[in-house]
Amino acid sequence: MPMSASPPAPARALVRLLVAASLAAPVATFAQPAMPIADMHLHYSHDAVASVPADDVIGLMRQAGLRRALVSSSDDAGTQKLLELAPDIVVPSLRPYRSRGEIGTWFRDPTVIDYLEQRLARHRYAAIGEFHLYGADADLPVPAAMVALARRKDLILHAHSDADAVKRLFRQWPEARIVWAHAGFDSPENVREMLRAHPKLWADLAFRSDHASGERIDPGWREAFLEFPERFMVGTDTFTPERLFYIPQHAAWARSWLATLPAEVAERIAWRNAESLLAAAWPAGGSAPAAGNPEPPSCAQAGNGVRSLQGKAARLVYRTEPAEIALGEPFRLLARLCPGAEARAGVRTKAGADSGAGARLSVDATMPEHRHGMNYTPRLAQSPDGLVADGLLFHMAGRWQLVVEAREGDAVERFADDIVIR
Ligand SMILES: [Zn+2]
Repeated sequence: MPMSASPPAPARALVRLLVAASLAAPVATFAQPAMPIADMHLHYSHDAVASVPADDVIGLMRQAGLRRALVSSSDDAGTQKLLELAPDIVVPSLRPYRSRGEIGTWFRDPTVIDYLEQRLARHRYAAIGEFHLYGADADLPVPAAMVALARRKDLILHAHSDADAVKRLFRQWPEARIVWAHAGFDSPENVREMLRAHPKLWADLAFRSDHASGERIDPGWREAFLEFPERFMVGTDTFTPERLFYIPQHAAWARSWLATLPAEVAERIAWRNAESLLAAAWPAGGSAPAAGNPEPPSCAQAGNGVRSLQGKAARLVYRTEPAEIALGEPFRLLARLCPGAEARAGVRTKAGADSGAGARLSVDATMPEHRHGMNYTPRLAQSPDGLVADGLLFHMAGRWQLVVEAREGDAVERFADDIVIR
């Protein structure tokens, strides 16, 4: 079907009726605001664009109480339309499809890579996908080139794949963050095994009804949700235009079966997991990081949000933006290396303005009790004044250990600070 084709008049009329009926449907009581939902699996592809106005789609998303929506479309124009109308909700993902028909052919079509490169040069995205990829096809040159592109841009992968293809993607890019669409349509036992093996694998529950019928959750899935409360997310999967009208109903259904889980687990699956995963890749509203010229604190500064950490040969001062680090919210770290109490050989305290040499600072954070780190690699910028690190995010409550490392040649000094996130 040519991409510009309009749907026949009766289809248009039906769509209009559905919009009217859906928008007129009674909404949940206002007494208590409904739990927000992050819908991790929406498409607004060319046939949907031709039959359902973008304003109406946004209306459905707001009616559903969506806090976030990961949207990908064949082609990308639909996603960009929705993003323009609702940058507060829509998080864009780039599909390797220009039209619906490419689902079964894209992984052998090298022109797909040209298309992805063109789009990536023009727009910002949080993810690549949803793409369909099974078994050994994951190692074909086109998917491998797509993974390399995602890696270069540090984008999440949204894979409609079997377990075998997911494993192959992780072999190509071990640090990848993969959202496993439809949890692979696999059994809860197999999904748990995959989540155990891959700490950076998440699963969306889109378009599968085996995990809950009505409000009742399948016992096998309940165990999976309780073992991995941080890794499941919900999604509608609007793979046909008609399913756009199901977004509010899907959100309501998700709230009803999630209500049978402990409140904290329900909130995570409903939206917090998506929020943590997407926040660093797509800061609130897609806006650029805070403006201004960020400067590390001076060596003389103390208090007022500036922390000082004494090392063996040097001292580190740092502050964060915002000063108070919040759960699931990205933050920036600004650090400077200062002369230590005793002057000795080792890490020099200032980048030599003449030679251009000096200590390089880097930062990482882990949760010692949970033996895991952050989901994101922070973006580091060095200057003669020190380090500016963007995109740090603590996705779990508890004790985090922040470690700034100063390295010059073989000399290394580590500065650690404990931060408790509630
Ligand atoms: Zn899918």
